[in-house]
Amino acid sequence: MRHGSATWRNWAGTYSVTPARLCHPVTPDEVVAEVRRAARDELSVKAVGAGYSATDIALTRGVMLDLTGLTGIISVEKRSGLVTVAAGTTLRELGRALWDLGLSLSCMGNLDSATIAGAIATGTHGTGRRFGGLASQVRGLQLVTADGQLLECSAEQHPELFAAARVSLGALGIVTAVTLQCEPAFALHSVAAPADYEDLFEVLARLELQDHFEFLWFPHTRRVLTVVQTRLPADTALQPMSPLRAWYDDKILGGAFSAMNRLSAAWPNITGKVNRMATRALPERSYTDRAYRMVPSAHRVVFRQMEYAVPRASLAHVLDALDDWLQRSGEQITFPVEVRLTAADNIPLSPAFGRPTCYVTAHQYHRRQHDEYFAAFEAIAREVDGRPHWGKLHYRTAEDLAPVYPLFDEFLAVRDAYDPDRRFGNDYLRRVLGS
Ligand SMILES: Cc1cc2nc3c(=O)[nH]c(=O)nc-3n(C[C@H](O)[C@H](O)[C@H](O)COP(=O)(O)OP(=O)(O)OC[C@H]3O[C@@H](n4cnc5c(N)ncnc54)[C@H](O)[C@@H]3O)c2cc1C
Repeated sequence: MRHGSATWRNWAGTYSVTPARLCHPVTPDEVVAEVRRAARDELSVKAVGAGYSATDIALTRGVMLDLTGLTGIISVEKRSGLVTVAAGTTLRELGRALWDLGLSLSCMGNLDSATIAGAIATGTHGTGRRFGGLASQVRGLQLVTADGQLLECSAEQHPELFAAARVSLGALGIVTAVTLQCEPAFALHSVAAPADYEDLFEVLARLELQDHFEFLWFPHTRRVLTVVQTRLPADTALQPMSPLRAWYDDKILGGAFSAMNRLSAAWPNITGKVNRMATRALPERSYTDRAYRMVPSAHRVVFRQMEYAVPRASLAHVLDALDDWLQRSGEQITFPVEVRLTAADNIPLSPAFGRPTCYVTAHQYHRRQHDEYFAAFEAIAREVDGRPHWGKLHYRTAEDLAPVYPLFDEFLAVRDAYDPDRRFGNDYLRRVLGS
């Protein structure tokens, strides 16, 4: 295992830290040894995955365990579709390996370079109103607890720990392996098409019944881009995006979007005009590919994001209020607002706990100020009992999060039982869970 001291930075460049020790364990035993050593030295410990979370959720000045070397499929039960995978495996590696086994994850999200443990810890989700987030596919966890024990938990073993640790915010232990309920492999047929904002709710009522549906609304315009993905058998003849099209999207459209953001950072007043021009050229396109390959692999333009889980019934109010605020404030935004759907789940700190959910994401270019826009969006989301994505920016604290999570106190009780000395604590957890 590699040890050392170095400065660690997250993807968005919003946080960096130089921990006392930065370690790269590659086995669960090495994780156990590091947690015990940290306890002896009275240092806090945090695991870190791929570092895509925009908040200080993974930060520590104590011992940082980079688990990106703890990878691979550990076991497979082909008949039941239960697959156990090492915590640092990325969703891309996992998707590929599952496909070779004739399996797929139910839902993935837009980021396949995240690690499975990092993704579930923050409640990462995709879209599709019949499907929950990644954590709802978890059937078992292996984790190292604060007293240095390697524990297996599931609905049968340590059920109270399992219930809470699926979306743990990293507060309950260092996850070394995750058992997932997978599905028989499937392909996806993806169709993206522009629509008018005025027709959105009529379109939504029809399209949200499809397997996986999302839409992007471009601020300062009345245009949206809808994306429907339909499941097909794995042996369907694939028609993936051609390499030329993928190159064009990445280099030309990606490059144009990057240029557009730089221009509007220099001259914010042209943003509305630029957005309207861009939405006139919204592409209508379709292709079919293996499910795991539908996730965009490049995120060429760096951005900040805030995402709120709101009740499905509140979506129209949230979008109208945001549009209204943008018009009143004069704030200029180039990035689209993204809307996705998930089923309700029963995970205490999941933003989709207990209610069918719409996830609404606001983005801002990294060279532009995001505070006013995100504060306004958060105020709107609060009015409808919105819950923030744990891996994205938000300004909430334990005091005002507790009322929107019916099992908040139950989660805190599990934390008290398994980490009474807050070995896995940090500033973020003090803010959102209390001391
Ligand atoms: C470009 C981009 C696209 C995104 N797309 C989506 C999306 O489509 N849907 C969505 O819901 N979110 C999305 N996100 C958010 C992202 O999925 C989360 O931030 C996720 O946590 C990233 O995983 P990671 O491996 O980078 O975790 P990290 O950011 O490294 O860690 C996140 C948290 O998990 C904890 N953790 C990590 N590994 C372990 C472990 N082994 N044991 C215990 N705790 C651990 C860390 O301590 C930290 O608290 C996106 C983010 C970006 C930047």
